[in-house]
Amino acid sequence: MSELGLTFKEQLRLKAAITSTMEKPSDWICKNTSLRQKKYSFVDHEYQIDFVNDKHRIVTAKKCAQIGFTEILLRWMLCFLVQHQGSQTIFTQPTDTDVGKFAKSRVDVLFEECDIIKRLGTGGIDSAYLKRVGHSFLNLRGTFGTKAAISVPSDANVYDEIDFSNPRVLSQFKSRLQHSKYKLERLISTPTLPNYGVSALYNQSDQKQVVLKCNHCGHYQFLTWENHIWIRRHTDGAVFRKDPDSIDLYVAKPWEFKPYIACEKCEREVDRSWHGGCREWVAAHPERASDLDNGISGYHISQLDVPFVDVSDIVKASDKRFPEGYKKEQDFNNFVLGKEYAGGEGMKIDDEVAKLASLRMDMPKAASGTFVGVDLGATCNVVVVKDFWLRDRDYRVPVVVAAFEIPSERLEYADNEFDRYRPLFLVSDAQPYTTTVSKLAKLPKYEDRFKICYFGGKKAFTVSDIIVTANRTQMLDAVTDDLPKGDVMVADSVPDEFWPHLKNLVKVKAEDDDGTVYYEYVKVGDDHYGFALGYALLARKMFYELKPRSAGGSAPVEITGARTTL
Ligand SMILES: [Zn+2]
Repeated sequence: MSELGLTFKEQLRLKAAITSTMEKPSDWICKNTSLRQKKYSFVDHEYQIDFVNDKHRIVTAKKCAQIGFTEILLRWMLCFLVQHQGSQTIFTQPTDTDVGKFAKSRVDVLFEECDIIKRLGTGGIDSAYLKRVGHSFLNLRGTFGTKAAISVPSDANVYDEIDFSNPRVLSQFKSRLQHSKYKLERLISTPTLPNYGVSALYNQSDQKQVVLKCNHCGHYQFLTWENHIWIRRHTDGAVFRKDPDSIDLYVAKPWEFKPYIACEKCEREVDRSWHGGCREWVAAHPERASDLDNGISGYHISQLDVPFVDVSDIVKASDKRFPEGYKKEQDFNNFVLGKEYAGGEGMKIDDEVAKLASLRMDMPKAASGTFVGVDLGATCNVVVVKDFWLRDRDYRVPVVVAAFEIPSERLEYADNEFDRYRPLFLVSDAQPYTTTVSKLAKLPKYEDRFKICYFGGKKAFTVSDIIVTANRTQMLDAVTDDLPKGDVMVADSVPDEFWPHLKNLVKVKAEDDDGTVYYEYVKVGDDHYGFALGYALLARKMFYELKPRSAGGSAPVEITGARTTL
């Protein structure tokens, strides 16, 4: 179909729909798109209106499940494609499989019900990955999978479920916006770990939440799981604040009770709906998003803020004794409250581990028979490991005997620092100071026992000349698996930043080209000592497996009691 063959009136209407760029996306969406054969409406979805009309270049939403943000962003993108004829956009899903489902169940259905698309024409394109709207194109892509790569320029990107997407591929998609005058980005997700993905973005944003004004006493408040849930008994009308006891009652006889949301001040049941101006988005840091081009506009929404989600469903989801209950506290927080959750399988190092793996020991200024790991950065972090026979163990245990920083401008003389510990083997990060560390690694005194490390491959490590190629996940697994077991110990005199860096070694789920699930370490904060320890343990492993002749046999080990001095 083309623009030709339309009546004059139709052409005028089409032109108005295309060129009315002043029309707000929310109005355009209601006028031009449908849902189940009815015109789209924001009734009970009023929280979507500000989000969809947001004029910031970068908009993020840290959200609970099932609130229609994916659906509304698809409509927002369609509005953009129609209003900006000749543009290109990218809409991502975590995996290729997700794209296939999304194209069929959402995009195709939306297109079929949209008159304006029919009139503009789809150019006969029938692909899950490419859609045409008149002179504009919509690219659908996964972030894990073979079809992820894309070379087209883009004017607007939507990234759905970023916490479950491949961060490297997301940044490739971002680079496609470089030459656009719009450069719009919408990043949404159910959060997972604190300060990772959508949580990190939201933290940098103006941090909007939905405020509620009590329809009884006028008190303004943000609804929370901790302070706003009450349970009423049908038989006598008695009310109970949510606590472990009242939840027990509810679990035992769910038919006798009805959970509800009450004002934190007057304790009466509140109207959660958006009618009557009782609800509104409010930013904690409006100044951060005052610049439309550079500020990040951020939204956080939980199911408590979504009027059509029943409070009993929320309470039931919180407790695994209900058939509907989430088995893990983490999932309830992420999917129902739209909140990040510390702990769980992704974060293995915590205060308990730090306590268990700490060994009373003063860091020595010098030692011998050690393994050295170096993580390069603005400051270079060095970890020195030495094997010990500990009193209660019948195998030798690597102990972190020293951890310190070297300023990057001193890196070329770092061998002086290393040599105080008379290392048997050293591994350093190869980047970004490749030339400097290569020179160090080639120093004759190290006799081929100093390697610079790149990541790649499925093997623990492969060596070629001064280069070792190591599997990043396996290298860090050695740290996060062995510390909690006490199979790596740490002197309690390490610098204060040591344990915080180690706690930042967290893993998230990822997916292979063929759909195989695996786990990958991601950046959630400073993790330099974590990597440096990984390199040091890799150096130790390489030493035992490669048995370099020059070092002669195995590492000298020390025997230690409760208090150790070298
Ligand atoms: Zn009140």
